[in-house]
Amino acid sequence: MTMQEDEPGEPLVVLDKVDKWFGELHVLQDINLTVHRGEVVVVIGPSGSGKSTLCRAINRLETIDKGTITLDGEPLPQEGKALAKHRAEVGMVFQSFNLFAHKTILENVTLGPIKVRKKSKAEAEARANELLDRVGIGHQASKYPAQLSGGQQQRVAIARALAMDPKVMLFDEPTSALDPEMIKEVLDVMVDLAKQGMTMVVVTHEMGFARTAADRVLFMADGQVVEENTPEQFFTNPTSDRAKDFLGKIL
Ligand code: ADP
Ligand code: MG
Repeated sequence: MTMQEDEPGEPLVVLDKVDKWFGELHVLQDINLTVHRGEVVVVIGPSGSGKSTLCRAINRLETIDKGTITLDGEPLPQEGKALAKHRAEVGMVFQSFNLFAHKTILENVTLGPIKVRKKSKAEAEARANELLDRVGIGHQASKYPAQLSGGQQQRVAIARALAMDPKVMLFDEPTSALDPEMIKEVLDVMVDLAKQGMTMVVVTHEMGFARTAADRVLFMADGQVVEENTPEQFFTNPTSDRAKDFLGKIL
């Protein structure tokens, strides 16, 4: 796709035979997943199937017990500066926006680039303003999070993640805490991002988004990837009983 400096389509995030347990609970079971540069992978599945754990493992917010995860050919670092650098390269947007309440919108977006990326304040602010414009919040940069709607706050959270120039963006149910009328404004930003060639892993039950933006849909259940297909195939012709049952409930 466009906007990527490197060759499109090469493997960017690779999970190889990944297993994770929470005590007795085998929450990720032999997960193999390759996300290519510029690709948008939508992950869907019932609650408790391991979708958030998968995202958190890619961002190294969770450790794994077996297998390997690589980003751009590099294994995930265990700790220290290398880990901080890795986190900076993986943008994450959660269901709860997690903005700093006592910082302005602009400060929320410039903090990481100044602290972690060592950008000058002026440079960070210029970039932040550009990104806030892009998500439609440019005129609210001096406000505080509580002065914005949920949809606006989530768009700031997206701008904040983008400000770190991540190689990949992870979205974990980014619209599920939003009032219905605010969902579209966030999804529109995400669709835009996908069109511009951002590599994305998106946990969502928004089927419209999946149909519009996904290159691939991954269906998870009980810690396993049960089905993996194009959105067209997945929605019109799911093969597993688990997927059929799940789609029957949400569509
Ligand atoms: P999903 O995002 O698909 O709803 P999660 O990845 O959040 O699923 O959780 C998968 C399973 O792991 C669930 O049964 C959940 O209760 C369990 N789980 C998640 N986090 C922890 C944790 N920190 N400790 C113990 N169990 C956990
Ligand atoms: Mg979850």
